[in-house]
Amino acid sequence: MSESKIVICPACASANRVPVEKLGLGGTCGRCHAPLFQAAPLTLTAANFDAHAGRGDLPLLVDFWAEWCGPCRQMAPAFAAAARELEPRMRLGKLDTEAESAIAARYAIRSIPTMILFKGGREVARQSGAMPASAIVGWARGLI
Ligand SMILES: [Zn+2]
Repeated sequence: MSESKIVICPACASANRVPVEKLGLGGTCGRCHAPLFQAAPLTLTAANFDAHAGRGDLPLLVDFWAEWCGPCRQMAPAFAAAARELEPRMRLGKLDTEAESAIAARYAIRSIPTMILFKGGREVARQSGAMPASAIVGWARGLI
């Protein structure tokens, strides 16, 4: 049997078992048929955060941001570009700290943008301050 990974659907947060050699080959969710990888960060909310951070096998890199934060808006295209490079080895998501303040409080987010890398539901690294795409990719790759 080939090795497989549990990939959480970006659309419906269902768990999908995907053979490693098929990761990134355009697979779709068995439940809702959305593409499992969309080459873009997904929107994290209270409804899907724990599934993506803890139920899947892919590391989750979260950009904690807010609309009023200039550096966050500046970093948004860099984070989106990083998602295109880091999928399918990693999932990238954005968490609006205003809309989802309970999750921001859970991780004691004091300055934004802050990026946190989760593996198996646990925080393994954090970095505050805006970064260009190449630096995000280099930092994240060094952690997995
Ligand atoms: Zn789905």
